[in-house]
Amino acid sequence: MKQARILIAGAGIAGLTAAIALRAHGFTDIQVLERSPVIGPLGSGINVLPHAVRELHSLGMLERLLPQCIQTAELFYMNHRGDRIWREDRGVAAGYRWPQLSIHRGWLQAELLKRVLEEGGPGRVHAGQEVVGLVDEGTGHVVECVNRHTGQTHRHHADLVIGADGIRSVIRRVLHPQEGPPPANGMVVFRGMLWGPSFMTGRSMIIAGDGLRKVVLYPMARRESGDVLLNWAAALPEKPDAGYARGDWNQPVSPEVFASEFEGWDLGGVSPEALMRGSPDTFVYPMVDREPLATWSRGHVVLMGDAAHAMYPIGSNGATQSIIDACALAHHLRQHEGSLAAGIAAYEADRRPRLTALQAANRRQGPEVVIDLAAQRAPGGFAQPADVFESGELEEIASRYTRISAMERDAVNLASPYRPVGLTPELEPT
Ligand SMILES: Cc1cc2nc3c(=O)[nH]c(=O)nc-3n(C[C@H](O)[C@H](O)[C@H](O)COP(=O)(O)OP(=O)(O)OC[C@H]3O[C@@H](n4cnc5c(N)ncnc54)[C@H](O)[C@@H]3O)c2cc1C
Repeated sequence: MKQARILIAGAGIAGLTAAIALRAHGFTDIQVLERSPVIGPLGSGINVLPHAVRELHSLGMLERLLPQCIQTAELFYMNHRGDRIWREDRGVAAGYRWPQLSIHRGWLQAELLKRVLEEGGPGRVHAGQEVVGLVDEGTGHVVECVNRHTGQTHRHHADLVIGADGIRSVIRRVLHPQEGPPPANGMVVFRGMLWGPSFMTGRSMIIAGDGLRKVVLYPMARRESGDVLLNWAAALPEKPDAGYARGDWNQPVSPEVFASEFEGWDLGGVSPEALMRGSPDTFVYPMVDREPLATWSRGHVVLMGDAAHAMYPIGSNGATQSIIDACALAHHLRQHEGSLAAGIAAYEADRRPRLTALQAANRRQGPEVVIDLAAQRAPGGFAQPADVFESGELEEIASRYTRISAMERDAVNLASPYRPVGLTPELEPT
């Protein structure tokens, strides 16, 4: 079983973490196929929540990441005038053993890639190989790839194929050929980043909105000068004739198209409009997700990460759940040594029901629903949350999402059920 030939489609956060976790659990024949010819620092900020940080720690990755991120300590929900709806501690400040990391997606990906290459050698990751087909030969699979730049084709043999190829997954399409493109919810997300002065504690995250528009803002790196790399994302209804591509994270767009929508917003002294206009590059991403699936696998082919359960970028769960998927899959395969099918079934039974619930919660706006409620009940603003919310209402919304995303503190503070033996001490940080 340990000699199973494993092919991972996609060198994103999910695929690379899976390569590391599988190796940590004793698997040695692992290849990663990546469509992009160069695995560069694409994307902007993402958040990794404590239960996924626990997994990164158990793989020995946390120390490498800490110098490259901000350990987020508090989260504010506000309206567009900066009236505070709800504040909560995050990560270590909230009593978790592991921090919440705000980090550039590309830096996280680069650090994971470095580790995969250190352990497996450069032959383990094949950049410029887009998976285009999968043939079941009974005794194994043949994965067909093409390099879109050179036209060269490749065929790889595998016992186990892991589809970690994102929201437009080809492997998912092989398993579920009847499914169409990812459905859109009518909103688009604009995003960018820039270096600038710190705000609030320097480890604060703001999510603000007026019922129609929304802004998320947080720092994700700090220079010695004290300046921080600020990440912002802004959601707006999509204009009918906009024509943005679905599922492409790298579409550039001018701030002229959207920044004026946020004119006059004041988020505790921060002007989102100024951040948008001051950012060197800005991008647009129509909000799309995926329908929950009745199965993530067929035979020895299995999905994970966005390929399995892409969600709206709400509640910091995209990268978080992908990391946990990767560790869970490696763990269950190891536990069922001798039967790939049994390992895959155990992984799916563990992960799919939880992620199905989370996908549904994110379609209901997750914890960010408090912004919409505040806007409906007090469109002109309010003096204090008690003027707008019933006693206990905000607490209940926050704790419901914590439960659905399996982030209850006491459970997260235990040792990971997926940790490979012997790599790191059972428990550590704070
Ligand atoms: C370029 C990019 C930028 C992003 N930026 C942000 C962001 O700013 N904020 C945010 O919240 N989320 C962002 N995301 C999404 C976020 O990374 C994911 O939600 C989360 O990390 C889950 O990761 P994943 O590995 O499952 O999917 P992804 O991160 O989408 O990774 C999938 C990988 O598979 C590769 N791939 C796709 N199709 C094939 C194929 N047929 N053959 C081989 N390889 C293939 C892709 O190039 C990619 O490297 C971005 C994703 C990408 C790809």
